[in-house]
Amino acid sequence: MNTKQDLIKYWKENNICSDKIIKAFKKIKRENFIPKSLINEAYEDRPLSIGYNATISQPTTIIIMLQALELKKGDRILEIGTGSGYNAALIAELVKPGIVYSLEIIKELAKFAENNLKKANIKNIKIFNKDGSKGLKEYQPYNKIVFTAACKEIPYNLLDQLKENGISLAPVGLYQQKMLKLIKNKEGVEIQSLGDFLFVPLKQD
Ligand code: SAH
Repeated sequence: MNTKQDLIKYWKENNICSDKIIKAFKKIKRENFIPKSLINEAYEDRPLSIGYNATISQPTTIIIMLQALELKKGDRILEIGTGSGYNAALIAELVKPGIVYSLEIIKELAKFAENNLKKANIKNIKIFNKDGSKGLKEYQPYNKIVFTAACKEIPYNLLDQLKENGISLAPVGLYQQKMLKLIKNKEGVEIQSLGDFLFVPLKQD
C-alpha cells in the first residue's frame, strides 16, 4: 500500500513537481474527495471510481498536470470535469486568492464535489452543473483552462476564452490520449505534448 510519503518521495526523486505543489498536496486531503469505502486506498497511485463512470485521477497524473499549468497566485482558472473536486481543490490552494470555475455535466457529481469542498473548507471554487465543452463565457478570460476529460480533438474552440500567454491543458485522443499543453501567444498557439495518459471521455453533443 502506498502512503502520502511514498508519493512525495517518488515525485521528489524524479523531479516531477515544485515544493509549492507538494505543500498543496500535503494540505488537501485526497480522503475527503473519495467514497468512504475507498478510504484505505486514498494514496494508491491510481485512479479511483467515484461512480457515474467517472474517476478521481491518479495522483501522479494530477501532479504532472498541476506542474504543467504553471499556476500563479491570483490566476483565474477554468476546469472542465469537476468529478470529485479534488483537482479543483489543489488548483484553488495554489492560486488563492484567485478563483477556480469548474464545470461538471453530471448533477450528482457536481453535488458530490460541492460537499467534498465544504468538508475541506475550500471557498475559492465555483462549480456549475453544465456541459463544459464550450467553456464558460461569463467569467472569461482565464489564465489557464484545464480539461480532466478526454477531448476527441484539440480544443481550439476555447482559446478565445484564454488570456494572451495563457495555458490550456487537455488530454486529446479517442482511446488513449496525448496530454497537450497549448500556450497562447501573439503569434498563435504553441503545442507541447506531455506524453500518454488515459481519461474518461468528454461528453459532447
Ligand atoms: N478532475 C476530477 C476527475 C474528473 S473525471 C477529479 O479531480 O476528481 C472527468 C469528469 O468529467 C467526470 O466527472 C465527467 O462526468 C466529467 N465530464 C465529462 N464530460 C463533460 C462535459 N462535457 N462537461 C463537463 N464535465 C464533463
